Amino acid sequence: MRIDIATLFPEMMESILSESIVGRARKKGAIEIFCHQIRDYTLDKHRRVDDIPYGGGKGMVMQADPINNCYNAVCEQIGCKPHTIYMTPKGNVFDQQKAVRLSQMENILLICGHYEGVDQRILDKIVDEEISIGDYVLTGGELPAAVVTDAVARMCTGVLSSPECYEDESHYSGLLEYPQYTRPEIWEGEAVPPVLLTGHHKNIAQWRLEQSLRITGERRPDMLEKYLEQHNSK
Ligand code: SAM
Repeated sequence: MRIDIATLFPEMMESILSESIVGRARKKGAIEIFCHQIRDYTLDKHRRVDDIPYGGGKGMVMQADPINNCYNAVCEQIGCKPHTIYMTPKGNVFDQQKAVRLSQMENILLICGHYEGVDQRILDKIVDEEISIGDYVLTGGELPAAVVTDAVARMCTGVLSSPECYEDESHYSGLLEYPQYTRPEIWEGEAVPPVLLTGHHKNIAQWRLEQSLRITGERRPDMLEKYLEQHNSK
């Protein structure tokens, strides 16, 4: 899979996406990520990419042309139109199901806004969907794009050692994960739940499911209700 990111701060994106699991996956070629400086695509001699909003009001709006030129350059590089996503607090809220769907695509392009946002006309022209990472407003789309990239990348083949690494986690199955423990067996007088030391896989799986159901019920009754509805209808 290839992810392109159009941003005014490619160095910021690179610093996040060159580290840890995603950074290693890029190095070994399991995923391709390219960050594009939108400013490189302006024809303005002062490299401006924004202007004042029509109708008045505070702040600046990112202009259509540099983003359009950047989009065309990405299309040319990959030889097709990428699934194009504008990061915005007005979008549908991101979740694991969206991450799974995006991870099955060949190419996605994430557009990071700044200032007051982006001229609506370019959004109408090239954007396939708008995604928010939550009901709050950040200064720019870079952190939201990094969140989406990380969540999507970890489900691409070869990024984690096996699909079980992400299938067994919170949200993927519709439940929150059971508690995890590691050595030592007793820490500050607190012992690891005995079933985890038995080596009995069936009992361990049963304990983990019970814990997941308990935690999900306590913290996210909405999720538990949905999970039980789906499992009872099977
Ligand atoms: N004026 C916009 C509004 O009220 O909807 C907010 C603009 S915000 C200050 C600047 C940019 O940050 C947005 O264009 C968007 O790309 C990004 N952004 C801010 N909050 C976000 C969120 N919760 N999810 C995704 N992107 C966000």
